[in-house]
Formats: sequence, structure tokens, C-alpha cells
Amino acid sequence: MENYNHIPFDQIVEFGQQTLLNSPLFTVSWILGRFCNYNCSYCWPYARSSTPDHQDLELYLSTIDNIKQQARANNFTQFHFSFSGGEPTAYKKFAAVLKHYAQDSETDYQSLHMTTNLSPAISWWNKFLENTKSLQRRSITASFHAEFADEESFGDRCLNLIDNGVFVTINQVMVPNLFDEYYERCQRFVDRGINVTLKPQSNESASEIVDGYNDEQIKLMRTGFPLKYNGVSAQQIQLTDHKGTSYNIDQAERFNAFGFNKFKGWNCHAGYQSCIIREPGGEIKRAYSCHDEPLGTIDKGFKLFSKPNACITPSCVSSADSKIPKFRKMDFLENALQEQEMLEISRQQSVRNKKERANV
Ligand code: SF4
Repeated sequence: MENYNHIPFDQIVEFGQQTLLNSPLFTVSWILGRFCNYNCSYCWPYARSSTPDHQDLELYLSTIDNIKQQARANNFTQFHFSFSGGEPTAYKKFAAVLKHYAQDSETDYQSLHMTTNLSPAISWWNKFLENTKSLQRRSITASFHAEFADEESFGDRCLNLIDNGVFVTINQVMVPNLFDEYYERCQRFVDRGINVTLKPQSNESASEIVDGYNDEQIKLMRTGFPLKYNGVSAQQIQLTDHKGTSYNIDQAERFNAFGFNKFKGWNCHAGYQSCIIREPGGEIKRAYSCHDEPLGTIDKGFKLFSKPNACITPSCVSSADSKIPKFRKMDFLENALQEQEMLEISRQQSVRNKKERANV
């Protein structure tokens, strides 16, 4: 079990996903629609719809091109697109979206991520593998929904994708009163060689985690099941403190369990190095949590930021948002350091005074 308790979260001045910090990568998180083929009892009503709600395919394709064009103007030449829903695989023309995204001869790196319930048959997944084979990296967050999915075949689908080079992580929202049952199932997935992320449940406005966890459960969500790819621990997030010391954590999903999600006043790359698109309405925003005005819509046009901008939002709760690079000025830490220095000077003076008194 990895232990991240040594990270001084209150002294961090810069952090983000390593690939976003260290390469010209632009990232897009796209809720394609709310339509889902499952209807789980615990799903928030705003998060799903039983009616297909997708826009025209041509609009999606031109949006991909427009984002890439604006990002390139800001010198971001590599791309990561992440699709979710609803259930993205339930969109009948999703394969055409993936194909269009993957066919780009102007870039040397593109990656794809998808959050899915893994419900399509193996034949669908084989076509997915074919349509996306030109991409440098493919990853999937697989959400297991016990009311609809079968544990055995869900695990088989994960392993088939892993065998074909896809990075798969099972995402489990840890409902407090079902914690033990969920944890045991997650352990069985891990025993089969599949990564699992334990997520605290958020409240309806997604601004806080719900009450009801005991200390041991919080600890498990902070440290349990470290991500591993090919047997090696993944450390996707890099953090730097005010002294320039670097730290790593496997995934931004853990930030909420540490209460590290308040970045008001920090400079944030969201909207400059990233954007999100969400339905209904095809709204484009800098990130999901942000209270800023939208950057536009996919049908009427949008404009990305040309530089990082200050965060104006009290809490940044989605890991898709919190992994975007952020940095803050040193002022408050410099003040703290000055206070420490003053204390040290006065301590030394007091020692000197004592010695002088002893010499009299
Ligand atoms: S709420 Fe938005 S602007 Fe603030 S830190 Fe999160 S992503 Fe950045």
C-alpha cells in the first residue's frame, strides 16, 4: 500500500498531470450526451437520460478540428480526448467520431480515454481497437454497476482490452453503507490483474464528499490499490512544494480524500491547455467545476484562453479538473518563511543574551 501522507499538501505551489506539465499536450473532456443504456438506482437524475440526445455527427467532427486549430495556435501540438456520458458507446455514430479523431497526420502524439460501463459485446470492442490503433495511447475507465453488470464477464472484457494494449482502470464509487461489499469485489478484480480506483461518493452538487465514512475507510480510499501498469507503479501526478521539492501521487482521484481541492486564486491552465464539452447544449467550459462564464458552445462557436487564468471557484472536485496544471504565487509561503526566520533570529539572540549574562 502506497502512503501519500508525507506530501505537504498545504505547501504545494505547483502540480498537475506529468504529461500536461512536461509536453505540449492539450486535453479535452467531452460528455457526449446523457443517454445511457443502464438505469442505476443511485444515478443522479441530471446525469442520465433514457432518450438519445446526441447532436449531428458533422458538428462533432468540426468541433474536434476547431479545438485542435485553436490549441495549435497556443503551441499545443499533441492531444488527449476523453469521452464520457451517459454511456458514450451507446451513441450509434461514436465509431465515426473516434475514426475522425484518430486520423490526424499533423501530430506526433494523440491519446484517447473513455469512461464506459463496458456493456457492448466483444465484437464492438474489436472494432474499437481497429479504429483507434493509430493512437499512441488508449485508456479506459470501466465503471462497474452491480445492478446491471456481471462481475465475471466484466472482468473478462477488461482483460481482453488490457491484452490488446489498452490501459484499463475500474472506477468504484465507494457508497458508505456498501463499502465492505464493494471493497471485496474490487479486491477480486485486483487479484485478476486489473487496476481499481476507489472513489469517495460526492454529494448531489459534486462539491463535497458525503458523510458516513470511518477513518479506516478514508485511509483505504487515500492509499488503497495503487495504480500499476505492467507491474510497475504509475505516478501520474507531480507536485512541487515551496522549497522546490517534488512529490508524486498515482492519480488525482485521491485529492478529494486528502481535502486537496481548493485552488481559488491559483493560476490554472484549464481553458488554456484544456476544455470540457457537455450536453445538453454543447457548452464548452474551461473545466467541469469552474464557475467562470462558458467559453462558448459547439454550434455557435467558442474561444479558448490564450494564457493560464486565475481560479475563481471555491472547490475543484472532479479529477478531470484537478489534474490540469496549476500554480500559485509564493506570497503566503514567503510570509510564513519570514516568520520562521524571525523566530530563528530571536532564538539565536536569546541564546547570545543568556551567554552574555552568564559571562558577567
Ligand atoms: S475550479 Fe476550474 S479554474 Fe479552479 S482549479 Fe479547478 S479547473 Fe482550475
